[in-house]
Amino acid sequence: MFLRLLPLVLAPVTSYAVDFGDYFENKTMRLDYFHTGTATEEHFALDRIVSDGPWPGSTTRLVDSLAFGKYLVQVWDTEKKTLLFSQGFATIYGEWETIGEAKQRWGAFHESVRFPWPKQPVRVVLNKRNAENKFAPVWELTVDPSARSVNPADRKSPYNAWAVQESGPARNKVDLLILGDGYTAAEMKKFHKDAKRAADALFAIEPFKSRRSDFNVWAVDTPAQESGVSRPHEGIYKRSPLSTHYSAFDSQRYVLSYDNRTLREVASAVPYEYMVILMNEQTYGGGGIFRWLATAAADNAFFDYLFVHEFGHHFAALADEYYTSSVAYEIPEITVEPWEANVTALLDPENLKWKDLVEPDTPLPTPWKKEAFDAASRATQKKRAEMRARKAPESEMEQLFRDQAERETAFLSSMKYSGKVGAFEGAGYMAKGLYRPYADCMMYTRNDVGFCPVCARAIERVIDQYTK
Ligand SMILES: [Zn+2]
Repeated sequence: MFLRLLPLVLAPVTSYAVDFGDYFENKTMRLDYFHTGTATEEHFALDRIVSDGPWPGSTTRLVDSLAFGKYLVQVWDTEKKTLLFSQGFATIYGEWETIGEAKQRWGAFHESVRFPWPKQPVRVVLNKRNAENKFAPVWELTVDPSARSVNPADRKSPYNAWAVQESGPARNKVDLLILGDGYTAAEMKKFHKDAKRAADALFAIEPFKSRRSDFNVWAVDTPAQESGVSRPHEGIYKRSPLSTHYSAFDSQRYVLSYDNRTLREVASAVPYEYMVILMNEQTYGGGGIFRWLATAAADNAFFDYLFVHEFGHHFAALADEYYTSSVAYEIPEITVEPWEANVTALLDPENLKWKDLVEPDTPLPTPWKKEAFDAASRATQKKRAEMRARKAPESEMEQLFRDQAERETAFLSSMKYSGKVGAFEGAGYMAKGLYRPYADCMMYTRNDVGFCPVCARAIERVIDQYTK
């Protein structure tokens, strides 16, 4: 007789969490540093340590039991015997080091980690995923909160800060900050409307919809001297307050700001854990990096989708489930399981991380009409490239997206295993070797289908970290 053991379920590491008041003041320590290197080496250098005002996070869930992200910051006592705080995150550097440019030259990015203000000296450890996707230390330093180099003064913000939605004390809520870039003083009313529209778009989609009252939403006005942001592929350059720009990593629709120091200074006006920038632009584009930043073009017809999709990256470290679009990343052959909640290499189907959501009669991998879908998808990509080359108006591009969404929605909802959780090949920029949990999801297409059950569960777990 063959006995199969049940997969071992690890209990979340919250039990040894320390008492907040024993170790921390109600204040946020922001450690700014430079992260520099190439494809093969990586270095860190301290910039400065400042106060970001009251601590907005949980005071009971100090250790991050989900540990999503390529990096993990840990705060230990100086003996490294007691873990006081940890949080997974991702960085621009972590993406940049995977692109071709990093093989040719050095890159340097400004970053920050934030944690509750320690009462005594602490050991801060930055960890990074190794080849096995396990965290290993890459930088350590001792921080003495009473050192002359540590600045405990709170910043007096020169900007107008306001609440889009206030649900309760910051420490029991997720605190989301909405910024705008490329809005002139005369366009501030538009920014306020756009910020409210962004919040409404987010809370129209589950599980955010049911958890709306678990969120505070803040906004800070940063008026620009001229309207819009830089779009280098179109030869348009601006010096906007937050330095948000299209063509990040030379990818036309990828929008980021590399100016972390400015962003953090602006953001310190409010308690926040998540930060998004709305660009005062119609051109399709956005970006999302886990616990750092999400961006979206406010005036694009697909804004609601764009914003919530990028927020999925930013909020819960969800991977892109698509693979046919051309992207800047160069990803090697998959031999280890990805850490993201919504993609799998299916190296061990018996222990698939979302196995509990798979019905017994759904095969793994799960059959779907991939060849037909890919052929139609490639044809659309070709059309899109042709439109871009001749600088077609944005409205024409939007119509192409609408037609594509209509066709793909019908296609992906009419297969045998549509609406079932399984493992569908093609995800995370890989046509082969990586699998997504559901035929369709807003991390896969622009279709009006919301998050799949696996993505939705990951989002719920992150919300719980701030509220329970
Ligand atoms: Zn999904």
